[in-house]
Amino acid sequence: MADQQPIAVEEHLERVLAAVAPLDVTRQPLLDALGLAAAEPVTAEVSLPGFDNSAMDGYAVRLADVVSASADAPVHLPVVGAIGAGAADLRELPEGTAAKIMTGAPVPAGADAVVPYEWTDRGAEHVRIERAPTEGQHVRRAGEDVSAGDLVLETGTVLGPRQLGLLASLGHARVAVRHRPRVVVLSTGSELREPGQPLGHDSIHDGNSFLLAAAARRAGAVVYRVGIVPDQPEAFLAALEEQLVRADVVVTSGGVSMGDYDVVKAALRPLGTVWFGPVAMQPGKPQGFGHVGHARVPIFTLPGNPVSAYLSFELFVLPALRKMMGLTPWSRPQVSARLTHAITSPPGRRQLLRAHLDTAEGTVSPVGGPGSHLVGGLADADAVVVVPEDVTALEAGASVSVLPLDTGLDGGAS
Ligand code: AMP
Ligand code: MG
Repeated sequence: MADQQPIAVEEHLERVLAAVAPLDVTRQPLLDALGLAAAEPVTAEVSLPGFDNSAMDGYAVRLADVVSASADAPVHLPVVGAIGAGAADLRELPEGTAAKIMTGAPVPAGADAVVPYEWTDRGAEHVRIERAPTEGQHVRRAGEDVSAGDLVLETGTVLGPRQLGLLASLGHARVAVRHRPRVVVLSTGSELREPGQPLGHDSIHDGNSFLLAAAARRAGAVVYRVGIVPDQPEAFLAALEEQLVRADVVVTSGGVSMGDYDVVKAALRPLGTVWFGPVAMQPGKPQGFGHVGHARVPIFTLPGNPVSAYLSFELFVLPALRKMMGLTPWSRPQVSARLTHAITSPPGRRQLLRAHLDTAEGTVSPVGGPGSHLVGGLADADAVVVVPEDVTALEAGASVSVLPLDTGLDGGAS
């Protein structure tokens, strides 16, 4: 078979994005929507504050009764009641009286200012007022924050703590968002063992399913980590079949290169619905993408080397998940920085070089070696330098594009 020509990173990403669509909209309890995007605009049905209330602990008064108050000539008023937050029996303040009032409690009709405790003797039966407030002083007015009818959230706004707090304050128990994609993560390899299990002379622990499951969860997905499937096509197909009922997306790792036991390729190629081929990048050259099952569930078959798998997730799976959730941008934005060291890069392939990004200095330093099995270096890195296909060498000080690995996205996918 003739060697397949590698396709460009953008071409692969375009195909992936064309094959996935935003998921259905549902009304979710507020906390379940954290990190998702509002799927419809939200208009306030009530005003905030909902009623005039006190901004201080003090006494509600009628201005006319206290205008003359000063330290030399204090005003004395009978105290007719105490109004607590959530305990406000006194609805109207009679003329010539004061009422104790706590922060957040409704200001009674007739009262037009609050005198803070600090300007009084804190009397219980009678109060001595030593200073006159101005009209409306220490009163939080109904609707001064949000008015009923205001547009408070536009479609697409990411629901973080502040937005969810606002929705709750407005009385919403649920909010319209898109479903979180259910992502099934499956590792292939007869050499793999679960963490915690002993290893033989020829086995390794399955790092990828944790790496990818964590990445998918951080992106905002609901993740089912299936774990390990041996290098037997029947076993792989059986595991896939069993999982498809609960999957909006399947992500596998391993078994897609040129080895003798490339299980994923061997199992899926005959279906004719999954494309396999090289993408012009390093690491992460062997890729596969397509769909499986009656429901045509999108499947990403990522390479087995952990660094390749992770960067493939970042470049192709993350944008797809974000598109499904209605989140933008789909990809983490790249930034530019100056290289602290000279680097070389293979021709014809986009190289992703693990690095430390120093945002304050505007510099980026390559870390670790180039091997795509080096998980220590991957964990140490917080960014990758993106070296274009046609660039084979860069001097120290050169300006380069950098893809941060942990920042740049709102919501779930930070
Ligand atoms: P493969 O493409 O299946 O030949 O895998 C390429 C390399 O990645 C091999 O060295 C595998 O042992 C390793 N590898 C594959 N899957 C995993 C995994 N889940 N965790 C850690 N390493 C893996
Ligand atoms: Mg393998």
